[in-house]
Amino acid sequence: MTHIVTRLCLRDTACVEVCPVECMVLGFPEEEWPWLYIDPDTCIDCGACVPECPYEAIFPEEEVPFDYEAPPGVWINNTKELLPDGQPFEGEIDGHPVKLLNAKQLQGGEILDLTEDIPPNYEFFSEGPGYDALEMANQ
Ligand code: SF4
Ligand code: SF4
Repeated sequence: MTHIVTRLCLRDTACVEVCPVECMVLGFPEEEWPWLYIDPDTCIDCGACVPECPYEAIFPEEEVPFDYEAPPGVWINNTKELLPDGQPFEGEIDGHPVKLLNAKQLQGGEILDLTEDIPPNYEFFSEGPGYDALEMANQ
């Protein structure tokens, strides 16, 4: 089991420092990997990251909602393929500075299946850059 980051992640990295096993990696390149990702083989399910996220984007895997009802004004972030009407955004959201390549603010009431966001968390480490993204971020 692991914890999962969903499309509610706005890349502010507020969660990274608290992880005792350093298994949280910001996605690069952002157009392919728009969130932060948790290494499922290393996560110990301690839950420390959950309250750190200002956007409530992190869930234990078995609690990721398939019927998430978007609160008014909530932002989602995804690839252009999966969020074709998204736009770049730079500014403050709920008091935190964020910079996003493809995001969208919802009106509220939309029902989202956030379990669709589980596979990319695994694929980031099995097929994507995984921990190499840490070096990409410093280039
Ligand atoms: S704190 Fe939340 S929004 Fe920020 S990077 Fe972590 S999961 Fe994403
Ligand atoms: S649940 Fe604990 S181990 Fe897993 S990513 Fe969050 S802080 Fe790290």
